[in-house]
Formats: sequence, C-alpha cells, structure tokens
Amino acid sequence: MVIVQKYGGTSVGSFDRIRNVASRVKALHEEGHQVAVVVSAMSGVTDRLIAMAHEMSSEPDERELDVLVSTGEQQSIALLAMALKESGVPAMSITGRQAGLRTTGSHTRARIDALDGSYTRGLLDEGKVLIVAGFQGIDTDGHIQTLGRGGSDLSAIAIAASLEADVCQILTDVDGVYTADPRVVPDARKLPEISYDELLELASVGTKVMQSRSVEFAKKFGVKFEVRSSLNNNPGTIVTEEHPNMESVVIRGVSIERSQARVTITDIPDQPGMSAKILGALAEAEVNIDMIVSNIASDGMARHSFTMNTVDLGRAQAALQPCLSAVSEKAIVETEGGIGKLSVVGIGMRSHSGVAAQMFQALGDEGINIGMISTSEIKISVTVPEDRIEDAARAVHKSFGLEQTPA
Ligand code: ADP
Ligand code: ASP
Ligand code: MG
Repeated sequence: MVIVQKYGGTSVGSFDRIRNVASRVKALHEEGHQVAVVVSAMSGVTDRLIAMAHEMSSEPDERELDVLVSTGEQQSIALLAMALKESGVPAMSITGRQAGLRTTGSHTRARIDALDGSYTRGLLDEGKVLIVAGFQGIDTDGHIQTLGRGGSDLSAIAIAASLEADVCQILTDVDGVYTADPRVVPDARKLPEISYDELLELASVGTKVMQSRSVEFAKKFGVKFEVRSSLNNNPGTIVTEEHPNMESVVIRGVSIERSQARVTITDIPDQPGMSAKILGALAEAEVNIDMIVSNIASDGMARHSFTMNTVDLGRAQAALQPCLSAVSEKAIVETEGGIGKLSVVGIGMRSHSGVAAQMFQALGDEGINIGMISTSEIKISVTVPEDRIEDAARAVHKSFGLEQTPA
C-alpha cells in the first residue's frame, strides 16, 4: 500500500518524539508499505522564527519571511531522516520544491497550484521512505512560499492526492476530531467519523485540529483521511463524504474562536453602492471580514457592523478612514475588542429545526449575552464576551448532549 502520514509539531517536538515517529514509520516500512511522511516544524519553532523576523523588521518582507519560516520544517525532516537511517531504514528527506509542490498566491498564505508526483513516486518505487517538508512549496518564479499556519496538513493531503495513496493519516497530539476542543470541554467525545463539510465548517471557525484549506482540498480531490494520535494506536476519526446515516445527528461539534473584534460604522448615507465601497476597501487591505450586520437607524442613515480577527483591526481602521471620508463627513467608526465566537456545526441541521433556539436558551441560562448572530446551512455562530467563551462552549455542548454516544 502507499501510505502518506503527517506528523504535527508536538509529535516531533523533542528528540524522543522524533525517535517515536521513526519507530512508527519503520514498522510500516517493514510491513512492506511505500511510505511518504510529511512533517511540521518542531513545536514552537515556527513561532520563534516569526518572532525573529519581527526583531529585524516591524513589518517583515513576506518573501523573506517565507524563506525564514520554511527552515523550521527543514530541520525536522533532516532529523527524522537521520533517526530512520540510524535504525537502518532507507529514508530520504526532501523539501517542498523537491516534492514538486507548486504554489500560487500571496506569500505566507499561498495556495497549491499543482503537484507533480513523478519524482516522489520514483523514489518510493526505488524503495525509499520519503520525509517531506510540510508547509512549503515554490511558485512559478522559484520563490519559496508557505501555505498559511497549519499548512503541513495541506501538504499531506496534496501529496496523498498526487500519489493516489491508499491511506492518508494525520497524526497529532489528540486521538482524533472531538465534539469540541478537549482542552476546553473535558467531556468532549471523539467522533468515529465526520463529513468533509462539517470538518471544513468547524476548521474555519476555530477548530485547529486540521487547517481548513486542507479539508477543502481533500473534499475537492476526494482524499479520505484519518486524524489520529501519534502517541498511541487508538482508532481515530475518519473524514469522508457524508452519507445518509450522518444526518440523524443534529450537531456534530462545537467550536470557539477568541480574539475577535467588532467594527461599527454609523451615519453613512443609505445609498446603493455604499456597502460595496466599504467592503471593497477592506478586501483590498486583505482584511478578512466575518459576520456582517447592516441596518437603517431612525434618522434614515445606515449602520454596518462587522467582526474580524483582532490582528486585522489596525489594517481595517487604516483602510476605512480614506474610504469613509470620501463618502460622508459624518461617518463614525467605533471598534470593540474582547469578543469570542461560538459556533455549532452539523449537517443534521438541514433537516432539524429549533437548533438556534436551543443554543440561545443554553447561553441565556448561563447568563451569557449574545452579540451578533450568523447562520449557514449547517452552522450557527454567535458572538459572546471573550471571557465567557469557554463557559459558553461547555453549556452548549451539554445542552446538545454531545458527550453521549448517539443511539
Ligand atoms: P499538530 O501540531 O499536530 O498540527 P494542532 O495543535 O494543529 O496539532 O492540532 C491539535 C490540537 O487541536 C489539539 O491539541 C486540540 O487541543 C486542538 N483542537 C481544537 N479543537 C479540537 C477538536 N474538536 N478535536 C480535536 N482537537 C481539537
Ligand atoms: N510549522 C507550521 C506552523 O506552525 C506549519 C504546520 O505546523 O502545519 O504553522
Ligand atoms: Mg496543525
């Protein structure tokens, strides 16, 4: 079988952990499988490299930042390959470029454009165990680019797709995908399976066990994969196409996001094209807007509120000033931080009603005030005070009985 495994930062976070990974990979090799292993930087290394860049420059050049942060993965692939060779396994470390991983788009958050698996396939056919640097690739001009935080997940899914792997496993420091972050909700339960759409929605609202773009890619290319622990052999969570049995569960999971901020613009003329101008200015400044609420005040002026990550707040304010002064002298921008976002996700929501009411009731009973609300077909998100976000997650998790195995 062709097996692609990915080990995250914690799983290669020390020399002993790297040796543990080496012995797991060695066992697969000895069973006769062709193995490609995608590896992240040792835990903390990427953060340290980013901090180093900020010592040099208040706004580090993104091309150079990519050159710097991509070195984290190069350390871990070389160390893992050494550990394997030490135990007699014909391992070989390769960079994203050598693996044929071509990227496009902006530095630090590039997308995968193409993946030529011919070199990797050839090496596997020669009997090599491949250790591939996650998170990195090169663009058409040969510049190193990285795939956004958590991007080794995407490297692994892409490599599994290009090799048409029989098995793709994401090995991490938890046993699989849980109904909520087990660090926040101690009663959270490991899910035996989850659909791409549910994991994609959860990942895009804070469930960092998988990078959201990697799940999108897996769905697009039909890569079925498993999230499981690198520290034990417990069965993990299978991530796959949805099937009819999945609909009987209304809520699959709960997710939280911290560090959210709200920008409210008041006293804007209620005219066609106004929202497009404002959102256009924010998009140009690459500010990711999340929830949007617009309404008209009693004096006929419009009011827009959006949420975003706190890190984008400065950029949003800078982009809004010139845009608003061009449309109205009276427009006022207010900002508020300290916001958390709580989301519930499940494909069963399509066929069950009353989910929002139950969620709001659970929060009301806890004395937690709801700010903004947004919904999609399979998700409901609300903002709550950031200092109550964990209580909110536990209350909603309990209200939907997520700790219990469904009948
Ligand atoms: P890696 O370094 O292996 O990529 P990450 O730190 O990116 O691992 O992701 C694993 C972490 O995701 C877990 O330690 C856990 O705290 C967190 N997490 C958040 N939500 C969930 C969830 N619903 N299920 C499992 N883990 C979750
Ligand atoms: N090392 C990168 C990060 O910390 C990529 C990854 O771990 O997946 O974001
Ligand atoms: Mg990760």
